[in-house]
Amino acid sequence: MQLVCLDLEGVLVPEIWIEFSERTGIAELRRTTRDEPDYDKLMKGRLALLEQHRLGLPDIQKVIADMGPLAGAKEFLDALRQDYQVIILSDTFYEFAMPLMKQLGMPTLFCHKLETNAQGFLVNYHLRMPNQKREAVKRFKEINFDVIAAGDSYNDTAMLAEAHAGILFHAPENVIREFPQFAVTNTYAELRAAIDAAAERI
Ligand SMILES: [Mg+2]
Repeated sequence: MQLVCLDLEGVLVPEIWIEFSERTGIAELRRTTRDEPDYDKLMKGRLALLEQHRLGLPDIQKVIADMGPLAGAKEFLDALRQDYQVIILSDTFYEFAMPLMKQLGMPTLFCHKLETNAQGFLVNYHLRMPNQKREAVKRFKEINFDVIAAGDSYNDTAMLAEAHAGILFHAPENVIREFPQFAVTNTYAELRAAIDAAAERI
């Protein structure tokens, strides 16, 4: 049985922090895992910036509700789910992702949780576990799934390496250069073809 694990941001939906940065004009919030491979350092910096600018979860959720999935993402995902079991493995948070998951037809999502205070400001984040993308793929293999994984940034590379086949989608040059072992795709048609080719091979 073949399972496809997909990253969310940059693959099916826009980068939430970048979009938020553009709408609020806080340039420092543009940094993502593409720029800073140390996730904890990145998140602590984001929470500090939000507090500094007095922005809470309702402000962020308003932006996210209007973002919508990437063009063609829903169609790609709907077709993929006809032929494979699909699980989205993301380092985003349920509080951010749910408005977008509704627009994608509620596929299965494994991600993390945010903690807010009574005023709605973000005070902390809680990862379900460290390296959840790679750990999830490991467990799926243990229960006899063949796993094909696709993602676009540093925080996906351990998942791609753990999977039977790893595919980069819309990845920046530095990630492509550092991880030449993964297939490179840039459109949903290419990604689907790479998934089908990997499924044939493994
Ligand atoms: Mg991503």
